[in-house]
Amino acid sequence: MKKAFGEIEYELVRTGTSRLSLKVDRDGNVTVRAPRGMDISVIENFLSRHREKVNEMVSTAREGKSLRLSKEEMDALVKKARKVFPERVEYWRLMMGGIAIGKVTVRSQLSRWGSCSQNGNISLNALLVEAPPRVLDYVIVHELAHRLQMNHSKAFWSVVQQYCDDYKECRKWLRENGGRLMALNPR
Ligand SMILES: [Zn+2]
Repeated sequence: MKKAFGEIEYELVRTGTSRLSLKVDRDGNVTVRAPRGMDISVIENFLSRHREKVNEMVSTAREGKSLRLSKEEMDALVKKARKVFPERVEYWRLMMGGIAIGKVTVRSQLSRWGSCSQNGNISLNALLVEAPPRVLDYVIVHELAHRLQMNHSKAFWSVVQQYCDDYKECRKWLRENGGRLMALNPR
């Protein structure tokens, strides 16, 4: 049932459980689940107490929704990444002394920028197309460095630094902007 409490619009679902719960989905839709017999005043009291937090969650979700690419736009982005990234990998592979690697895969991912498997297959997140080129290079150097050090030890970071002396700034950029980039994903 559609309900509104002040500016909060929500779907009220009555359930057999004894708990009152609230969820905001990635489109910013609010769903409140409440026990069948619970009085609406209890629900509204709950909403009133969490008003600020709910509004914040809704606006964050809506911002994310407005950034999201269409399926077609995402396909075009992946295509572009598949053209550009393997060349960059090859460039750095040679720069780093001709490291042996497996396959290079470029696809859209929701949680990682890159990965390197035990057998040297490198996977890169296509969304890095939207990042500064230095950041893409850093992610590639990072994954290639895993061919020499399969961990994040001091020795690993010193390999990264050797080829990417501003890697700390690149990591900072990803921390600060990564969420915005990941939000482009249409899924
Ligand atoms: Zn790593």
